[in-house]
Amino acid sequence: MSAPLRVAVVGSGPAGFYASDALLRSDDPPVAVDLLDRLPTPWGLVRLGVAPDHENIKAVSRAFEKTAARPGFRFFGNVDVGKVVSHAELLERYDAVVYTVGAQTDRRLDVPGEDLVGSWPATAFVAWYNGHPDFQDLAFDLTGERAVVVGNGNVAIDCARMLALTPEELASTDTVPAAERAIIESGIREIVILGRRGPVQAAFTPPELQELGELAGCDVVVDPQDLELDPASADALEHDRERARRNMELLREFAAREPKGLPRRIVLRFLVSPVEIAGNGRVEGVEVVRNELAAESGRLVARPTGMRETIPCGIVLRSVGYRGVELPGVPFDDAAGVMPNDGGRVIGAERTYCAGWIKRGPSGVIGTNKKDATETVEALLADARAGSLGAPGGGDLGALLSERGAFFVEYDGWQAIDMVERSAGEPLGRPRVKVTGWNELLETGRSVQSSS
Ligand code: NAP
Repeated sequence: MSAPLRVAVVGSGPAGFYASDALLRSDDPPVAVDLLDRLPTPWGLVRLGVAPDHENIKAVSRAFEKTAARPGFRFFGNVDVGKVVSHAELLERYDAVVYTVGAQTDRRLDVPGEDLVGSWPATAFVAWYNGHPDFQDLAFDLTGERAVVVGNGNVAIDCARMLALTPEELASTDTVPAAERAIIESGIREIVILGRRGPVQAAFTPPELQELGELAGCDVVVDPQDLELDPASADALEHDRERARRNMELLREFAAREPKGLPRRIVLRFLVSPVEIAGNGRVEGVEVVRNELAAESGRLVARPTGMRETIPCGIVLRSVGYRGVELPGVPFDDAAGVMPNDGGRVIGAERTYCAGWIKRGPSGVIGTNKKDATETVEALLADARAGSLGAPGGGDLGALLSERGAFFVEYDGWQAIDMVERSAGEPLGRPRVKVTGWNELLETGRSVQSSS
């Protein structure tokens, strides 16, 4: 059998694992995969994005473990491509490089006051409660009575729900202890979610919306007037197959509910946009403008009416989408926040491919990345069969990293971290207690190598 094709996959979230799996299944040609990650831990947003109370969604990691057990797979954690090793150096060592680095920053609102103390990107809040080692020193002040979450996607719903969980609901999750304590002790009584367009245009999905109505310690409140539809939205709803129709049913049911007087409430508001985050030195409120919908290039967009109001609050979470980040030496489409590509082949770069959010933008559920990664891998394998991938001669990545004194966490190092976390969680009835400090992660990941 011919020597396997050597492929580096950069980014070990769902797209990275699905791409690795598709590559490792190939026998024409056979492929060996090195999966690299900036963090010492794999799984990307499955570990650090999916909400801690969504353990069923996190269970997809079992499929990733099976991929990691395939012959030809190696993990290199704590390897920051672009810093520790360059794109060019990867190309010298691999037949092809696949970027699955996701969308690592937040989109901005571009309103005055956005950077006031107490105004946070939702991405930071999510990374904090999920134990991302870069976000553990943040101090989210949850003492105010009202929080405002801007945006109508599933991340906005996740943030609002996390703020509303009871101690009992949190007890079986792997929320990091500091965040769990802050949520339990928080003074927040009301969480307002702001949608700039109407309920028919909301990006959140029905199961996530439904959960808001099932929380033990939180009422969900919708003003029936917000559900009166303009003709274009009513028409769109008529033709909707699933999401908007089901969302509207749920919202109507919420609007008809009598609040139970639970300790917290989530209020869903529509057709309002923040025009300013106001406060003297720190967030004191959000000034919003009432919108109406207008057709523009075949889509309904929000247009401000001039009617304004201020919603007093102590914290703002801006949840208006993620954005891809440029990687040194690799083409980047700044307007779209993705690597320019044709079906996963990065345009303007040899032997370079992409999959997941850095390929198509931050949309879809975890499973969407499987089809997406498969398309990319098919393109890569077709190029290999056509003989256009060339033969690199640059040696092994591990040797280069060792030469540079750059410590990397191998898969058994991650398994040691995983074991420590699960063992700590077990007596508490939690799936795991996450290791959240860089030093501890690296020490735990290193201990296997020094003892073997
Ligand atoms: P998203 O689904 O793209 O939602 C972004 C929201 O922000 C939209 O409602 C958008 O409104 C709004 N927005 C954008 N710019 C705005 C502005 N300037 N002012 C006010 N609102 C603005 O993004 P996401 O919530 O970050 O989620 C990312 C992806 O992960 C999605 O595909 C999501 O479904 C997925 N996800 C899934 C789960 C789950 O399955 N449980 C959990 C979390 C995330 P417009 O529509 O008007 O642009």
